Amino acid sequence: MLILLKRIYNEMIQHAKSGYPNEACGILAGPKPGEVSDFFPMRNMDESSISYFMDPKEQLSIFKKLREKKIEMNGIFHSHVASEAYPSQKDVRLAFYPDVSYLIVSLSDRQKPHLRSFKIHNETVKEEEIKIA
Ligand SMILES: [Zn+2]
Repeated sequence: MLILLKRIYNEMIQHAKSGYPNEACGILAGPKPGEVSDFFPMRNMDESSISYFMDPKEQLSIFKKLREKKIEMNGIFHSHVASEAYPSQKDVRLAFYPDVSYLIVSLSDRQKPHLRSFKIHNETVKEEEIKIA
C-alpha cells in the first residue's frame, strides 16, 4: 500500500495539470517504501505528450537533498494526458526500480484526474492500493 498525504496528492495533480498538454513527471520520497513525505516536481526534458524523460542533473540535485533529509526515493510519478493511468510498454521497459512505486495520473478527463500506483518488477505490473491520509 502507498500512503499519500492529501497535500502531496494535490501537488502532483497540480504539477500534472501545469505540464499539460505534455506529460509531467516527478520524484516522491519518504522515510520508507510506501510512505511519502516529499514530492519533487521535475521538468520533462522530452516536452512530449506521449513520453517523459527526467533531467539527470536535476535528478542528482534531488538525490543530494534526499541524503541531507535522510529520506529515500520511493516513488516515480508521471502523467498520461490522453491515455488511462496504466504503465505503457515503454514505462514498463524503463522501470528499473523494483521497490519503488510507479504512480501515473491520467488527465484524459481533466476535471477528474485519475491516480493509480504500480510496482513493476521483471516487466510484471502489479497495482497497489493508494491511501490518501
Ligand atoms: Zn507513461
